[in-house]
Amino acid sequence: MPNEIIEADDAGLAYNGQTVLKQIRFSVQQGECFGIIGPNGSGKSTLLKLIAGIEKPASGQVLLEGKQAHLYPRKQLAQWAAVLQQDALPPLGFTVREIIGMGRYPFQNWLGDEKGAYDAEQLIDGIVERLQLQELQHRSIDRLSGGERQRVALGKVMAQQPRLLLLDEPTTYLDIGYQVQMMEWIRSWQQESGLTVVAVLHELNLASQYCDRLMMLQEGLIVGIGRPEEVIRSELLEQVYRTQPIVLKHPVSGVPQILLQSAAEGAVSNKARERSHTDV
Ligand code: ADP
Repeated sequence: MPNEIIEADDAGLAYNGQTVLKQIRFSVQQGECFGIIGPNGSGKSTLLKLIAGIEKPASGQVLLEGKQAHLYPRKQLAQWAAVLQQDALPPLGFTVREIIGMGRYPFQNWLGDEKGAYDAEQLIDGIVERLQLQELQHRSIDRLSGGERQRVALGKVMAQQPRLLLLDEPTTYLDIGYQVQMMEWIRSWQQESGLTVVAVLHELNLASQYCDRLMMLQEGLIVGIGRPEEVIRSELLEQVYRTQPIVLKHPVSGVPQILLQSAAEGAVSNKARERSHTDV
């Protein structure tokens, strides 16, 4: 088996003649946590669709374990790759436990049975406990908060036991406590199972804290790729987001973290910078 679980080779895509992704070249190693960042409309979700084989590249190719992603039969791919999107749960009527159990569908025949003596109930018990869903497990999902629903969605992909997990903004709309909790659950699962994670993340500070490498997109092009400190740089952020954040080292982990500043504060810090240059 190749060490590279994902390989994009000069991949490109256009919608209605409008280029959305171009010259996309990168690879992801097994066991890595790889973050995709960039402003709204820069092509992050579309790239995730190419990786998941939902879209076919118009040029170049995207390989999953050496085979073009869009050529995998859906059910076969679902047996080893899972996608967690924002609030993608069925809307009404199912209980938390039933939803988590749906993660086993790719492994079942049309009667709902799994091959061999696989104990799905035991697996679901473990996930319910791990995600602290014991109290909620028999509740209908339409009576859950947004944060609880996202936790159930994570439980469902956990039940799928994938080798590759694709996340599309898993922490959007969550409060900071839930954001960190979500990333911690994913990280501990990853460390135990050797799972590969590719995550589109809006929160740059979270991306920097939890990803081994980051890739920054701007208007469908890769403008930065590497360890967080190679990508979360003030000049690049200024170019891509048209704002002037301050980048500091996290006092405990040492990874780059961003402080936003107003235009007035930016002007003051620019002046200070100019002054320090003329002083030298
Ligand atoms: P991001 O996830 O970075 O916000 P997207 O990948 O969703 O960006 O979108 C990138 C660009 O592609 C946007 O300009 C968006 O309007 C366009 N786009 C996305 N999906 C479609 C589609 N199905 N049809 C036409 N244009 C699309």
